[in-house]
Amino acid sequence: TFRILHGSRDMALSLVELVQHFGFIEDTLKVIGQRQTVRDVDDAPVLSRRGGSVEFRNVVFSYGKAGEALHDINIKIPAGQKVGIVGPSGAGKSTLVHLLQRLYDIDSGSIWIDGQNIHEVTQDSLRQSLAVVPQEITLLHRTVMENIRFARADATDDEIFRAAKAAHCEKFIHGLSEGYDTIVGERGTKLSGGQRQRIGIARAFLKDAPIIVLDEATSALDTESEMEIQRSIVELMHDRTVIAVAHRLSTLSNFDRVIVVEQGQIVEDGKPAELRKKGNLFDRMWRLQAEGLAAE
Ligand code: ADP
Ligand code: MG
Repeated sequence: TFRILHGSRDMALSLVELVQHFGFIEDTLKVIGQRQTVRDVDDAPVLSRRGGSVEFRNVVFSYGKAGEALHDINIKIPAGQKVGIVGPSGAGKSTLVHLLQRLYDIDSGSIWIDGQNIHEVTQDSLRQSLAVVPQEITLLHRTVMENIRFARADATDDEIFRAAKAAHCEKFIHGLSEGYDTIVGERGTKLSGGQRQRIGIARAFLKDAPIIVLDEATSALDTESEMEIQRSIVELMHDRTVIAVAHRLSTLSNFDRVIVVEQGQIVEDGKPAELRKKGNLFDRMWRLQAEGLAAE
């Protein structure tokens, strides 16, 4: 009898643990925002971290039968370059940055980071080389501290404080009822759009990856947090390769390069000032936005 009872107690304990783990896996999938659709090749080596150069070679990709989302994309980004991706809605901008994260496998061509084919290295090591700051930050029903640590499980408390400071989060975190121990997320203390965004930037600082992928929010944030966000993003970009899907073109004037995508193809590629002089799609989009702003 004792053995059976003992056995079932163990079972009960491991069930609790299992539920805890499942909760975490669910959270993780929510944060990644994707289900696993790709697999590591057998004995895949890890991606060794260097400066963060990126290359797309003849990349073709379609989502199932619905026709090609990207046709023959060729891009070569040296380490440290700041590149903006612009274009009309549905052009393929998000697809481009999703493929770099290998959320999907491409139909043909190849994608390289620091001379290593991303298809051939472990997904774990690939994701460690990229810090993605998405439009919508998903917060776990956990403390602020754990929410930032999510970017790197082995980070020390000090490293988390530094990341929060770099992302201009400190002031609002200290204003929360329990500071860093405040539970946030859907059922916890609600954070504003700007505060969530800055938690996302703190995660990226903590990760300290050589490549930053930004998917700029289309929705307007309040002006004050907007300025703080811009400042922390500029600091985050320093010494890193940046690939930014941008909607407000004015944020691109300090970028090294703009790639304009239209209907799954690259139609322009150059320095922002050069593209404005050419008077093609980028210039037209720029002038439209400038008029829009003037009209407000
Ligand atoms: P952008 O970010 O430039 O607005 P996307 O990269 O999201 O454009 O989309 C490019 C094309 O791929 C569009 O035609 C879009 O409808 C299609 N698409 C995007 N995501 C999916 C998906 N998950 N399944 C099927 N088609 C998709
Ligand atoms: Mg998009």
